[in-house]
Amino acid sequence: MDNLQLLAQWLKESTYTVVFTGAGMSTESGLPDFRSKTGLWKSKDPKKLASIEAMYQNPHEFYDFYRQRLATLGEAKPHKGHLILADWEKKRIIQAIITQNVDGLHHRAGSHRVIELHGTLRESLCLKCQKTYPSQILLTEGIPRCSCGNMLKPGVVLFGEMLPQEALRQADIETRRSHLFIVIGSSLEVSPANFFPLEAKEVGARLVLINLEPTEMDERADLLIRDKAGHVLEKIDGILKTLA
Ligand code: NAD
Repeated sequence: MDNLQLLAQWLKESTYTVVFTGAGMSTESGLPDFRSKTGLWKSKDPKKLASIEAMYQNPHEFYDFYRQRLATLGEAKPHKGHLILADWEKKRIIQAIITQNVDGLHHRAGSHRVIELHGTLRESLCLKCQKTYPSQILLTEGIPRCSCGNMLKPGVVLFGEMLPQEALRQADIETRRSHLFIVIGSSLEVSPANFFPLEAKEVGARLVLINLEPTEMDERADLLIRDKAGHVLEKIDGILKTLA
C-alpha cells in the first residue's frame, strides 16, 4: 500500500479527523507563503512590516504591505484542495480545520468548521472602540481610520500580539478530540500554533504531515507526504471514492 492509499484508509477508519493548514495550503491559489524558497520573508523583514510596532512607527510602509497583500488576495480563489476539504466536511470525513492562514479561502470554498488562529484579512478593526470594517477600507490611500479617528488594524495577529483566546481554546478542544491530525502546508515553525500537532500526538492521534519541504516535526509524524497539497488531496479524494 502506498502513502496515499494508507492515508485514505486512515481517513476512512478515523472517527474524528482534524486538518491543520498553513500558508503552503494557499500557494496553489497564487498566495506566497512566508518561509519557503519563494516565500514573502525571503525579500522582507517581518518585524519591520507585520508587527504592532511597525503599524505605529512606520504606518505608511505597514499599510502599503497590507494593501499589496489584500490586492493579491482579491485575485485569489480557493483551489481544488480547498474545495475537497469543504466536501469532506459535508461528508463527515473530517470534523474541523484549524488554520494559520488569514486569507479566508477555506470559508470561501464552503468549509464552516474553521478555526482561524491568526485572525483574518477579511476585516479590520479599531483598537480603541472595537468597531470592525470590511478590509476593503485598507485599500484606500493613506492611513485608514475609524469613524472615531483612531487608526485601523488589519484583523490579523501581528508579531508582538497574543493569539485570540477563543480560537486557541477551540483549537485545543478539537485537537484533543482528534484520532487523525493532518498538517497541510506548514513549516511548523510558528508558535504557539505548532504546539497543536504535538498535542494531537500526546492524545494518541495519528499525525500526518503533507508538505513540500522537511519540517522539524518530521520525525514525530506517523506519515510524511512530500508533495503539493492540491495534488495530494485530489489523489486521496479519488482513492476514497473507490473504497467501500
Ligand atoms: P510557512 O511559510 O512558514 O511554511 C509554508 C510551508 O508550506 C513550507 O514549508 C513549504 O515548503 C510548504 N508548501 C508551500 N507550498 C506548498 C504546497 N503547494 N503544498 C504543500 N506544501 C507547500 O507557513 P506557516 O507554517 O503557515 O507559517 C507562516 C505564518 O504565515 C502563519 O502565521 C500564517 O498566518 C502566515 N501566512 C498566511 C498566508 C495566507 O493566509 N495565505 C500566507 C503567508 C503567510
